Amino acid sequence: MPRDSKAEKTIQEKMFQEMKTRNIFDQAHHYVYSYLDQVFERNVFPTEEAITDLRIFDEEMPIEDSDAEAVIYLLHRYGNPATVASLGGRYFGFVTGSVVPVGLATKSLSTYWDQVSAMYVISPLASKLESVVEKWLVDLFNLPTGTSAGFVSGTSSANLCGLAAARYRLLWKQNWDVNEKGLFGAPKIRIVTGQHAHSAVLKAVAILGLGKANIEFVDVDNQGRINVDEIPDLDENTIVILQAGNVNSGAFDDFEPIIKHARSTGAWVHIDGAFGLWAAAVDSHKHLTAGIENADSWAVDAHKTLNTPYDSGIILCRDSEALSSALHMSAGYIIESHERDGMFYTPEMSRRARIIELWSIMKYLGRDGIDQMISIMVERARQFAQEIRAVEGFSVENDVVFNQVVIRYQDDELTNQVLQKVQDLRECWAGGSTWFGKKVIRVSVCSWATTSEDITRSVNSFKQAILSINRK
Ligand SMILES: *Cc1c(COP(=O)(O)O)cnc(C)c1O
Repeated sequence: MPRDSKAEKTIQEKMFQEMKTRNIFDQAHHYVYSYLDQVFERNVFPTEEAITDLRIFDEEMPIEDSDAEAVIYLLHRYGNPATVASLGGRYFGFVTGSVVPVGLATKSLSTYWDQVSAMYVISPLASKLESVVEKWLVDLFNLPTGTSAGFVSGTSSANLCGLAAARYRLLWKQNWDVNEKGLFGAPKIRIVTGQHAHSAVLKAVAILGLGKANIEFVDVDNQGRINVDEIPDLDENTIVILQAGNVNSGAFDDFEPIIKHARSTGAWVHIDGAFGLWAAAVDSHKHLTAGIENADSWAVDAHKTLNTPYDSGIILCRDSEALSSALHMSAGYIIESHERDGMFYTPEMSRRARIIELWSIMKYLGRDGIDQMISIMVERARQFAQEIRAVEGFSVENDVVFNQVVIRYQDDELTNQVLQKVQDLRECWAGGSTWFGKKVIRVSVCSWATTSEDITRSVNSFKQAILSINRK
């Protein structure tokens, strides 16, 4: 299209033109393939230069419209090099999943559909897939029949939903409708959880007005598991929050006795299983989650261990009515159907249909594929622990029961230096944390793409870090 005709075209004509020529779609796909060609080999964290170049984005909001190809080019030229290569096999930060290839393809495809998961009438497809995946997950995790699922943005949101359902139900049992009356003057709700509860749990407690200062923290053992003997007396006003997968050590609370006791008192049990709940889907690791089926609600991510695209988490709740009552809304224009209306299980009304990618990955992997993929992650974590332990000065501070390795090099100061150097080298990326007051390096193996060579290569980078520290 000749440049001088630009001014004469309306923005709508221009957009139809993009759709018709498809140039920007071809252009984006071309960039995607070049990204995939290098992402498994390139520096895991962006270079200083790439980060400095991000200044290109510091500009005033443009007044005139731009050329679409130039917009896409800008992202490719400056966005691509500044990405963190968590899609590859040597990103061990936080608990960050890669993406199963079929999930990437599905995301591309379904992006063009742009479906909304609020109600059946907005997307029968999303509604159908949510119903199907709800059943699959209940089955896979061996949860009670009738358990409902809400498809949310992650475990932070899933925890919020689970605790909202708990708050609604416990108060309702005391003739207090929290939706109508709020918390002012309400009977007190107690919260019991471990010292190592994830900060997302504390945040949910705060948002729900339950008060972080009211939390009764229970001491934990040297892996971060709740000491069963130290749990206070429980009652029907109590929410007990347990953990499947400590964010540092990967440890699992001792569910069976705690949940059995809690339920006998009428307490509500919620499990934060962001990445660890997936152990229930793996034959050789499901002993770690024994007893979870007796809890009331479960929060889990798909974007971590299952390697779906971000953002994808799930709230599962035995008491379907409590969940939908806690999150219900109505208005004249909302059309309730006899099929699944997803918005009644989530805080949001409009949500992108992230279910499409979740369905596609579960369909593709099947039970066996999920079992294999996660088993390999655990195997690689163990390999990391074994290889790093063999290097003089390093210690592994946790029992590697799942995909997490907690590493230390002599003392706090040296551990910090090693971590900094490893990050500077960019061969792999791991983050730091504090573990029982000591500075540590966290390695989380959470990518389908991590190979045995990736582990050795990363451990070599740790060795190189030591060399350069000693040389100073
Ligand atoms: C990651 C994580 C969360 C928060 O989940 P998001 O998906 O990041 O919102 C909560 N609890 C645990 C144990 C986690 O590992």
